[in-house]
Parts: sequence; C-alpha cells; structure tokens
Amino acid sequence: MSFNAASDLASSLLRQEVLDLHAYHVPDSAGCIKLDAMENPYSLPPDLKNEISRLVGSAAINRYPDPGAVSLKRKIRNVHCLPDDLEVLLGNGSDELIQLLAMAASKPGAVLMSVEPSFVMYRMIASFTGMRYVGVPLAEDFSLDFPAMTAAIEREQPALIFIAHPNNPTGNLFAVDELLKIIAIAKGLVVIDEAYYAFASDSFITRLLDYPNLLLMRTFSKLGMAGLRIGFLAGSPAWLNQLEKLRLPYNVGVLTQLVAEKLLDHHDVLLQQAQQIKQERAVLLQQMDRITNVRVYPSEANFLLFRVEDAKKVFDGLKLRGVLIKNLDGGNPMLKNCLRVTVGTRSENEKFIAALHEIVN
Ligand code: PMP
Repeated sequence: MSFNAASDLASSLLRQEVLDLHAYHVPDSAGCIKLDAMENPYSLPPDLKNEISRLVGSAAINRYPDPGAVSLKRKIRNVHCLPDDLEVLLGNGSDELIQLLAMAASKPGAVLMSVEPSFVMYRMIASFTGMRYVGVPLAEDFSLDFPAMTAAIEREQPALIFIAHPNNPTGNLFAVDELLKIIAIAKGLVVIDEAYYAFASDSFITRLLDYPNLLLMRTFSKLGMAGLRIGFLAGSPAWLNQLEKLRLPYNVGVLTQLVAEKLLDHHDVLLQQAQQIKQERAVLLQQMDRITNVRVYPSEANFLLFRVEDAKKVFDGLKLRGVLIKNLDGGNPMLKNCLRVTVGTRSENEKFIAALHEIVN
C-alpha cells in the first residue's frame, strides 16, 4: 500500500484533534553538551552504579512488574514524609499522570486551565483528551495575574487547573497566598506540579490535607532519574482511588521499580547533587547577568530563562559550538527572544558561558 493511500485512510479515520497536533519535538543532541531538558548532569558514585548493575542483572524481566509497585510506593512515602492518610499514584513520568487526570476529568465541554507561558504538555494533553484548554497569561514579570486568574476561574469553571510551582519555563515560584486563594475559590481540582521541588524554597506538600480539591504532583526526572520515567501524584484517597482505575496495570516497569527504589535508598546522594546544581545555578546566573545584551531571570528550578536580542542567532551559534539549549522564541509572545538553559556541571556551564559571550558580543 502506498504512503498516500495510507495517509488518506488515517486522515479519514483519526480524530481531528489528533490530526491537528504537532508531536512533542525532541531535537537530536548527539555530540552536544546537553543543556536543553532539565536533566541532572552528574553521574552516580561507582559503588552505587555497581549495585544497580547487579540488581538489573538479577531482575526477573521475564515477569510482569508488581502492578501496585508496593515497595517503591512505600519508599516514596518515606522520603517525602507523606502522612498515612494520603494516597500515592505512580506514573510513567508525570506526563502520564497529567494525561490520566485529563482523561478522568474530560466530560463534554470540560475546561483544563493553566497559566501561559507554562509547561506545554498541559495544552497538548487537553487537546487530545477532548478538554477545552484555557491558558491565563501571566503578568509581565511572570508572576500570577491574580485578578485575571480569578476572573477566568469564575467565568470558565475549570474542572482541572495545573500550576507548575516553580513554573517551567519561567523558573519562578508563584505567590503562595494567591495560590491558596485560587485553590479555595476553584470548584474543580487543582494540581500543583512540583516537578522542580528539589531546587525550590517552597512546597505544597504540607498543605495537602487542608483542601479537598488539591493534589500534588512530583517527578524524579529532574533529580537524576529522567531515564527511568517515574512520577507520582499525592493526595486524598477519595481522588486517587478513582484515578487508579485509569492507570494501566503495569505502567511502571520491573527495572524502573528496582532502580528507583535503590536510588531512593540513597536519596541523600541525589539531594546532594541537587544542592550542587543550586550552587552552580547561582554562579551561572551571576555570570550571565554580567553579559551585556543578556537579561537573565532568577530561578527556583534547575534551569535559567534568559532574553537576548536575537534568540535564533544565539541558539544556532551555541549549537554550532556544540551546546544544545532550548529556544522558546516563536510560541508565546511573552517569550519573544527567550531561551532556556539547564544548569549543567561547572565545566559544561563554563563552555556555555564562553560560547554565549562569543555570540552576543
Ligand atoms: N511538569 C513540568 C512542569 C515539567 O517541566 C515536566 C518536564 N519538562 C514534567 C511535568 C514532566 O516530567 P516527567 O514526565 O519527566 O516526569
């Protein structure tokens, strides 16, 4: 069968929302210093690597994983000090949990709300799960536009609100009192997405029990486990027992369960690396701040947002010099000429800074 014939068939059979989508683009990073995806740049101590090799070598990969990932969930509860009256739901990355929440809330006409600019998957998942997406623009300094947000909630009555705290790609935390008011006035479910919790000075984890419509989402991707794909939702069993019905039985594989558990046994190592990333973030911020024609924004995450005169020239120039970052220009007008760089190791950051100097001056 020719490609054209198959393409005609696909166009006539598939949902319009799917045909209209652009796939999430992941650029080729071969041979580059990879500062585009908020990964932890450090490797593990050799002893821990050896332990993991042994674990993987003896894993029963011919068997399905524990469908409830009971042991891993117990460790997650422990390291995050989650009280017993909260439930935990695991996802194949937190992306999968966003999708699961949207599938559950997607009644006809239901609205998924977030702020703009924020994590692009909120909008993308809303569109392919049949929810109507409403993005409320942030204020010019990337703080919440609180009056606009409350008005939008009153008007749209969203079933689901996602707030990334700290926000991606802007890197800032929002005002906690404003978020609490939003949770209080919203009649729908509010999910605080703490993907960058390990680098931030605030968390909603201790506020979870105060509101019946609040869930917390975290991922281990930024803490050094991006390759394992593991994220979790925490909140009242009243919510999570319902959502659990939509989780595919074996969504967290044998190797992910084993290795994530082992890494959580060494949570201190990962937190130490996060601490190092925070220190490097401060150094990088200071160095970027000194470059004329670069405006860098403060960050509570493991990346920095910055604005230049010509983002494409900077992105291409860095790529040419072997440094891959993220060009954010072209989507949201508030991100005109903006780029996002993940904090790397000291030597990666130095190469990035040297290249950036060369390009903008
Ligand atoms: N939420 C936010 C705010 C993010 O920035 C990301 C990753 N870029 C995710 C969720 C998804 O992370 P993962 O699927 O790797 O857990």
